[in-house]
Amino acid sequence: MVVLRFAPSPTGYLHVGNVRTALINFLFAQTNQGRFLLRFDDTDTERSQNKFKEAILEDLDWLGWSFDPPFYQSERLALYDKAVETLKKCGRLYPCYETPEELDFKRKRLLAAGRPPVYDRSALSLRPDKKAAYEAEGRIPHWRFRLEDRTVSWEDLARGPLSYESTALSDPILIRANGSYVYTLCSVVDDLDTGITHIIRGNDHISNTAVQIQLTQALGGAETTFQFAHLPLLMGSKGESLSKRLGSLSIQDLRRDGIEAMALNSYLSQLGSSQDLSPQKNLKALIDSFSLKAFSANSPKFSLEDLERLNGRLLKALSFKEVHHALGQKGLSHIDEAFWLATRENISILKDLETLWSIVREPVKPIIEEGDKNYIALALTHLPSSPWDETTWKTWTDKLKQETERKGKALFMPLRRALTAQNHGPEMKKILPLIGKKRTRERLAGNSA
Ligand code: GLU
Repeated sequence: MVVLRFAPSPTGYLHVGNVRTALINFLFAQTNQGRFLLRFDDTDTERSQNKFKEAILEDLDWLGWSFDPPFYQSERLALYDKAVETLKKCGRLYPCYETPEELDFKRKRLLAAGRPPVYDRSALSLRPDKKAAYEAEGRIPHWRFRLEDRTVSWEDLARGPLSYESTALSDPILIRANGSYVYTLCSVVDDLDTGITHIIRGNDHISNTAVQIQLTQALGGAETTFQFAHLPLLMGSKGESLSKRLGSLSIQDLRRDGIEAMALNSYLSQLGSSQDLSPQKNLKALIDSFSLKAFSANSPKFSLEDLERLNGRLLKALSFKEVHHALGQKGLSHIDEAFWLATRENISILKDLETLWSIVREPVKPIIEEGDKNYIALALTHLPSSPWDETTWKTWTDKLKQETERKGKALFMPLRRALTAQNHGPEMKKILPLIGKKRTRERLAGNSA
């Protein structure tokens, strides 16, 4: 049985980057009839916050994926205590007394000498009297995992064979001086304990993988216990790093801006793969077309514009029955089927319906300036014949241009103000057929209609 997991650290809101990786894990589990676990990596007591846990659960609920009930690393400390004992017993965990400032100084010195900032393991050769002196001074140690100096290799499901020289890595800290356990340890313990088979994550985790493979072995697992796939990270549409913008690309914000969950699910599961972007109405369709092999090794470019466009395409394809629930959730339950069918082509988010509804279906008090009265009266006599469609606005205004000296703003604005009582709004060619001939007549005559 294939078992995958999404393991967010509740230190911030979910954003498009981590949701993409999580979605790929979810789809992989689903295509293999496997399980998908949700684990909160919350042992960093200083940075983890309940409000982020709640927000993450809310976002996942909105995305609509199914997963086993969540579990929390902070509730599994006994398991990590046991692993720590194992590591201590086999001499792979050692106490270090350097302060953050001392470590920083060492790092800078190495960098200045043009050498990689790898921890020098001086704690390993610390004499007992020095240790005792540090402890008397009140220093509390942090603990490092002693890596074996060797090459770690694995067959990466996304990148092919990969290998990493452990000598290029510092022995990782597994226990902080404040006693809290670091993700590096807890993750391996939990992945072993919960029977994880595949770990799909961003390629910023490649060096973690080299460490975690050694840790897995030290805790009784094998080099191949987990199959890894490292995916390239999302970039901005101009190829810039997204890491700084990710805060502004949170799932909460996209949801608030009116992006539909299935538009985001579709976009993030197809981006960077050989599939064309196309909106799917349900997760089943995404599962049916998913293949991990379809993902390219190049960094995909995230574009908000493409996502919004896909959202519009999704809405256009929805029947009234399919959109009904979403309308209710957004306080748009007054939208009826006829209105939906007439407008779905012209919106990119459901919220656009609010403006259209107030212009088209609610009485509008026309604005007609004194100086435009004759022009509006003329416009009334030149209304194009039925049926009205997207070409009607052009037919009408071309005719008025011929009949008057007006052009540009002077030609269009009085009509917009008379028909919508606003200076700005949706494209007139799109809303004119919705307003219809009857209301147009009334409004041009100055009547509230
Ligand atoms: N909590 C880790 C993170 O959010 C999980 C990484 C992993 O998938 O192992 O980066």
